[in-house]
Amino acid sequence: MPGVGATLKRRLARLGLLTIGDLLAHRPRRYESAADEVAIAALGGPEEVVIAGEVLNVRSRRRGRLKIVTARISDGTASVAASWFNQPWLEEQLRPGVHVRLRGKSGRYGFDVKSYDVGGGEATLDFAPVYPASEEIPPKRVRTLVGHALGHVVDCFDPLPAELREREGMPLKRDALFAIHRPEDEREAELGRRRLAFEELLLLQLGIARRAAERERTLAPSLGSAGELIGRYRRALPFALTPYQEEAIGEIDADLARTVPMQRLLQGDVGSGKTVVALYALLRAVEHGRQGALMAPTETLAEQHFLTIEGLCAELGVTCSLLTSASPKRVRAAAQNADVVVGTHALIQAGVELRDLAVAVVDEQHRFGVEQRKALAQGRAPHVLHMTATPIPRTLALTVYGDLAVSEIAKPPASRKPIVTSWIQEERASEAYTRLTRLLLEGRQAYVVCPLVEASETTLARAAEEEADRLRRAELRDFRVGCMHGRLKPEARRDVMARFKAAELDVLVATTVIEVGVDVANATVMIVQEADRFGLAQLHQLRGRVGRGAEQSYCLLVSRAKEELTETAQHRLEALVASTDGFELAEIDLDLRGGGQFLGTRQHGATDLHFAHIRLDRGLLERARTVSRELSALPVVLEDAVDALFAGTDPDALA
Ligand code: ADP
Ligand code: MG
Repeated sequence: MPGVGATLKRRLARLGLLTIGDLLAHRPRRYESAADEVAIAALGGPEEVVIAGEVLNVRSRRRGRLKIVTARISDGTASVAASWFNQPWLEEQLRPGVHVRLRGKSGRYGFDVKSYDVGGGEATLDFAPVYPASEEIPPKRVRTLVGHALGHVVDCFDPLPAELREREGMPLKRDALFAIHRPEDEREAELGRRRLAFEELLLLQLGIARRAAERERTLAPSLGSAGELIGRYRRALPFALTPYQEEAIGEIDADLARTVPMQRLLQGDVGSGKTVVALYALLRAVEHGRQGALMAPTETLAEQHFLTIEGLCAELGVTCSLLTSASPKRVRAAAQNADVVVGTHALIQAGVELRDLAVAVVDEQHRFGVEQRKALAQGRAPHVLHMTATPIPRTLALTVYGDLAVSEIAKPPASRKPIVTSWIQEERASEAYTRLTRLLLEGRQAYVVCPLVEASETTLARAAEEEADRLRRAELRDFRVGCMHGRLKPEARRDVMARFKAAELDVLVATTVIEVGVDVANATVMIVQEADRFGLAQLHQLRGRVGRGAEQSYCLLVSRAKEELTETAQHRLEALVASTDGFELAEIDLDLRGGGQFLGTRQHGATDLHFAHIRLDRGLLERARTVSRELSALPVVLEDAVDALFAGTDPDALA
């Protein structure tokens, strides 16, 4: 493509834009609405307008971390100060005498600019597409490149058979692409988007159906119905199972009785009681003289699970072992023959030969790569129970996951006090520590979570150590502060955890390694530093470390100043303050992400959705499902398109 050099190519690649097809599929985030062009003298209303004029002068200044460029613009009727935030390079372009066209609103600082054209351009036109861009590539540049890509749109192949397209009243693919990038109005853009979304959803449904059919042909051992061991397990539990747990167990039993391998997702918020259900499934294998394995994403979590399960197993006369990469060879050899094996990904590493795996439980399944989950089933066809505390919204579970059955533990066993969450901006961070120290003085314990930086585990570890040292000298000098991160040796980590559990440490400064599995009821307060950097699901997980006992717990989210945050980051933090319900938060997360990225390739292996919005396109999705069932003999073109969509992805990725 003309004008794309090595640097730009690299930057585009970081946005996932590698081909002309990628550019065509780069959906505008929104369109400019229709706005009147007004004289500067007539400014002052609340609505969005366009002004045009010449730059008189320009200056820039800082307010905290915010860089503000201000230019005075005149159109002959009057002049106004127009402000841009955090775009310092603009100072260069906004020379006196340059003609500009600006779209925006009257605001506190004069005119708040939303989009602009300097010396010509089309960004401020009505219904101009606004693309997701990066700091490295301004939206305008993306727009120009998409324009070039549109030149190739005639070559665009349309996988939808003409007859189907006509029946559904859908335009040609190339017309739809044109419509989303160069619409006359919002309605036209939406018609184009729906056509492209429909195609995506249809291909997805066809692919899922194909996989489900393949799975039906694999054989797993039927485990009949529950027997004597299960009876003893139920009696050994110190509590009665909740109705939600019973329902999940009933569903699992039905799966295990079949010879089709179970592929079930067990979802329930942190603390909802999934482990008991997992052990139930594992014991169903043991009951038949076979083996059960539980795989956890971290050593800490595997150890925690092992400690929970081991005692119960011993009581039942069931052998149980822990197998992690820290286990010596000799231990491993013995471990792989136990009735129940608990471990990390070491379970699936070369050299480990599980004796007779019939039921596999994968905890926090989204933290494993597709490859790892597949390796667990390699060469055998165990029944698999995937567990997650990051709820997948129902809407998504029922549609995108297609044939993956879902059990849900909607409520935790005991009614615990909801965690009180506050959002505190950086300049008032000291308040967070004041509140934390007050609770420490009352005998409670605390977590401080370090900022998430895009760096190696080693850098993260070093940052955590440094932060722990700083806190030991400053805010937390009167307390015993420990540090926990992914670079600690297993013994060191166990030692820190044991001391924290025994209340020999007051505060644990940690990276996100504490996200799952850590369970200390006396820890009732958590500070998350630079909370705006974390994802919503991750913050909810982190928060789940407190609120595990009877005491009131607190989560203090410290972020940069509000003006410095993106709108999405603000929504995330607001949502966390407003709700402690994991399912509700998952739906909000899905809305904020638009659905596409939810299908992160790491998790599913399937291509992201570019045009479809899982939640808002519910009707379209159902239509695609119906059509996919009606299409019994697939036209070759459609078959090929499904192949292409799922090419390079794992056959189990959606299972
Ligand atoms: P999850 O893995 O879903 O986060 P756990 O399985 O660790 O949750 O359970 C959280 C706590 O609740 C554990 O201490 C567990 O013993 C307890 N628990 C589980 N089921 C019940 C129940 N039916 N009644 C009372 N307590 C339960
Ligand atoms: Mg758990």
